[in-house]
Amino acid sequence: MGEGKVYLIGAGPGDPDLITVKGLNILRNADVVIYDRLVTKALMKLVPNEAEKIYVGKRAGWHTIPQDEICEIMIEKARSGKNVARLKGGDPFLFGRGGEEAQELRKAGVKFEVVPGVTSALAAPAYAGIPITHRKHASSVAIVTGHENQSKKQSLVDWEKLATAVDTIVVLMGVKRLNKIVEKLIKGGRNRQTSVAVIEWATTARQRTVIGTLDNIISKVASHKVSPPAIVVIGDVVKLHRALHWFEEEGPCL
Ligand code: SAH
Repeated sequence: MGEGKVYLIGAGPGDPDLITVKGLNILRNADVVIYDRLVTKALMKLVPNEAEKIYVGKRAGWHTIPQDEICEIMIEKARSGKNVARLKGGDPFLFGRGGEEAQELRKAGVKFEVVPGVTSALAAPAYAGIPITHRKHASSVAIVTGHENQSKKQSLVDWEKLATAVDTIVVLMGVKRLNKIVEKLIKGGRNRQTSVAVIEWATTARQRTVIGTLDNIISKVASHKVSPPAIVVIGDVVKLHRALHWFEEEGPCL
């Protein structure tokens, strides 16, 4: 049997219809599917029955499978001739460790392809009716992580510098540290009245959007009990949600 291949596929943000045609075709022909927590269950139903399905995300009370073990599984399966779909939430190269996995595959001499996905960083604002750029309101966007590596003494993101460097800031993994983020953005000179949206479970039936300002978003997130996964959007474009929200019937929580 020849060598197989690993496909690093973006599953999209939650709505199963947001996977690409290419990703779906590969998934339908996969021998092995390795998937994360944020991969929507509806997509897993499209995987052939006979395909091996390996869950590598977090589970309550369970530890995450270490990254090197995930890579070992991919490499071993590909070497035994299997076509491996490595399915990741959103886009595999945006805060999804897809880059690290590709490096390991290259090191091991295993062939791979990358199939980009619709990232939650773009889909969440879209489904909340927030265009992240707009000719009148924003001509630049930064996509940043709110998660800090515990072992790193210094912050990975220079929030104070970022505060006024771009019009729209999209933060992934930012809910738990939102108070620190807001504090640093204000310290860096961003106006306290800047609009903020927090979009929870975007593109799914559970999507909820909470709208506020840098000044009051922390208390709003607490009172609405927002929890991950959520995307934070900061900037004037957030104001457009009022006119443009379309997915949540009730509209956003103000
Ligand atoms: N590669 C993924 C991101 C992985 S990091 C992508 O491109 O979307 C995980 C973070 O993504 C979460 O903490 C959250 O901030 C964001 N996220 C993923 N899916 C989401 C969803 N359906 N709604 C809101 N945020 C989501």
